Amino acid sequence: MLEILKRDTTIFSFEFFPPKNEAKWDTLVEQLHSFEALEPSFVSITYGASGSARDKTHALVTHLATETTLDPVPHLTCVGHTKEEINQILQGYAKAGVDNILALRGDIPKEGDHFSDFAYASDLVTHIRSFEEKKFGICVAGFPEGHPETPNRLVQLDHLKMKVDAGADWICSQLFFDNNAFLDWCERCELNDVSIPKIAGIMPITSLAGMKRMAELAGGTNFPAKLLKRLYKFQDDPESVKRIGIQWATEQCSDLLDHKVRGIHFYTMNQSSATEEIFRSLGTLAGTRLRTST
Ligand SMILES: Cc1cc2nc3c(=O)[nH]c(=O)nc-3n(C[C@H](O)[C@H](O)[C@H](O)COP(=O)(O)OP(=O)(O)OC[C@H]3O[C@@H](n4cnc5c(N)ncnc54)[C@H](O)[C@@H]3O)c2cc1C
Repeated sequence: MLEILKRDTTIFSFEFFPPKNEAKWDTLVEQLHSFEALEPSFVSITYGASGSARDKTHALVTHLATETTLDPVPHLTCVGHTKEEINQILQGYAKAGVDNILALRGDIPKEGDHFSDFAYASDLVTHIRSFEEKKFGICVAGFPEGHPETPNRLVQLDHLKMKVDAGADWICSQLFFDNNAFLDWCERCELNDVSIPKIAGIMPITSLAGMKRMAELAGGTNFPAKLLKRLYKFQDDPESVKRIGIQWATEQCSDLLDHKVRGIHFYTMNQSSATEEIFRSLGTLAGTRLRTST
C-alpha cells in the first residue's frame, strides 16, 4: 500500500462483491474492462459469512490478480475463524501475489457457533503484522457516523486507534451521504492521534430498493432529508432516482476533492456505469489528473 500511497496523490478505489452464480460472474467479468479503463488505485473484494461465499472471494481475487490489470485488496473478516484458517488464507493470498488486505472483524452472527481466535479487528491486524511469509499492507474500517455496537463515540475512536497502533496503514470509511460527517470524523481522528490516510466511502444510490438494503447493512448511516426529498419525489420513476443518486454522489466527490481528501472508495455494487459517470463528471477519467508521475 505504501507504494500506492506514494504513487497516487488521490486514491480512487472500487469495491466489488463476489457474484452468487455463473451468470452474474460473467456479467461482472465483462464489466471489469470498464473498471480497468478507469485505472483505479486498487479494487477491494468483500468477504461473506458462509463458506461458499468465502471461496468465491478467493476465486475473484485470484482472477483479478492474474487476469486483469486491477490490483485486488481482499477483505478478510476474523469472526468464526481460527488462527490456522486465517494463516491458510493469508498463505493463499501471498501465493496469488496479493499485497494488501482489508482486515475486519465482521458482524457477529445472531445465531449459531461463531468461535473466533480473534475477538476484534485489532487482533487480526496484530496477527497479519506478525505473519512471516509476507509483509502485507493493511487497511481497516472506520465509521464516520459511528459503529452501532459502540454508542460511545469517544471510546469508538480509541478502538480505531488500537487498530492503528496494531499496524494498520490506512482506513477505508463506511459509506456516508453527508460530507460534514466524514470531514468532522477526520478532524476527531487527528485529535485522537489517528493520522494515517483516510479514504472516503461513497455509494451512488441507483435504486430505492438498493438504498434500503444498504441502510440495513450499513447501520447508523444518515440519509439527509434534502437527499430523501429529491428521491421520494421521483419514487415511481427509477431512471430519475438513479440520476439523482449519481448527481448527489458526484457533488459529494467534488466537494471531498475540494477538501483535499486522501481518497475515495466507491461501493460499486458491481455496476460500472454509475461509477464511470461520476468519474467522467469529475474529469478524472483514468486518474491522469490526480496521479503523480512515477
Ligand atoms: C470499508 C468496509 C468494508 C467492509 N467489508 C466487509 C466484508 O467484506 N464482510 C463483512 O462481513 N463485513 C464487512 N464490513 C462490515 C464490518 O465487518 C462490520 O461493521 C463489523 O461489525 C465491524 O468490523 P470492524 O472491522 O470495524 O470491527 P472492530 O474494529 O473489531 O469493531 C467492532 C466493534 O467492536 C468495538 N471494539 C473494538 N475493539 C474493542 C475492544 N477492545 N473492546 C470492546 N469493544 C471493541 C468497536 O468499537 C466496534 O463497535 C465492512 C465495513 C467497512 C466500513
